Amino acid sequence: MERNKEFSFIADAMLGKIARKLRIFGFDTVYDSNLDDENILNSSNYIGRIVLTSDKELFNRCKKKRIDTILTYKETEIENLVTIFRTLNIKYINSPTVPYLCTSCNGKLDKISDNSLINNKLSDQLLQSHKIFYKCTKCNKIYWAGSHMKRISRLINEINAKLT
Ligand SMILES: [Zn+2]
Repeated sequence: MERNKEFSFIADAMLGKIARKLRIFGFDTVYDSNLDDENILNSSNYIGRIVLTSDKELFNRCKKKRIDTILTYKETEIENLVTIFRTLNIKYINSPTVPYLCTSCNGKLDKISDNSLINNKLSDQLLQSHKIFYKCTKCNKIYWAGSHMKRISRLINEINAKLT
């Protein structure tokens, strides 16, 4: 699978939905609703990540510490995503058939080589209607190219139209 751009992010506690979308698009994104501003500003684990925040105060504190940050202050999710990509001069988002990264934990997904390994975890209907499944290497969540991904693909088309 070809990943989207190389930028990596850390999203503030308000931005769970945006963090999940960025992971689907392939951007390595730290998100944990328990992280507070001090964690984000002071942890050496997050060096090199761009801080996404809808909080003007956190945005200003990042600026003061010379941490790259983007203020996501728009009303809608799509406008905020477009703001992020415009700021980074990203002109195009690739459309994945399954998420590039686990939406729950940011882990990498591996194609499952033998579907019999998962047939006790999924419904028969799902196993009959899909042939290819992926599993998160960190949390074991299982993914497939379901109808949810059609909505993602439409969202990406809308984003790309705004980026060009
Ligand atoms: Zn996971």
